[in-house]
Amino acid sequence: MTDTKTLCACGSGANYADCCEPFHAGSEKAATAEALMRSRYCAYVRGQIDYLVGTTLAAVRTTDLWVNYKSTADSIQWIGLEVMSASQGGAEDKTGKVEFKASYIQDGEQAIHHERSRFRRSAGNWYYVDGVIEET
Ligand SMILES: [Zn+2]
Repeated sequence: MTDTKTLCACGSGANYADCCEPFHAGSEKAATAEALMRSRYCAYVRGQIDYLVGTTLAAVRTTDLWVNYKSTADSIQWIGLEVMSASQGGAEDKTGKVEFKASYIQDGEQAIHHERSRFRRSAGNWYYVDGVIEET
């Protein structure tokens, strides 16, 4: 499936095919923690649960992770992503932090998920480790 004319859900302003699709397809690796974070948000929007699980650090993957991601993805409609800040997370770093706000609608109510996420780079791939939820 090619989506050459669809704006990427991560809010980059680029077309999906030129943005997160190569990461989802496995043909490219996210070079930075922020790029991985954006691609994970985009995967959430698109219901690509395997990608969410696969980009979670193996050491923190719980057995019910797939089911948890799936039920969240099914019950929430993500409507926008704003990356507030990113520190480290570059090509030479081992760890990175990204703070973001993701807007969503659940049960007819609009809300914002504000999180400071931690990422780790292992064998050239960035992985999500965990996050602290901030009050909005
Ligand atoms: Zn994207």
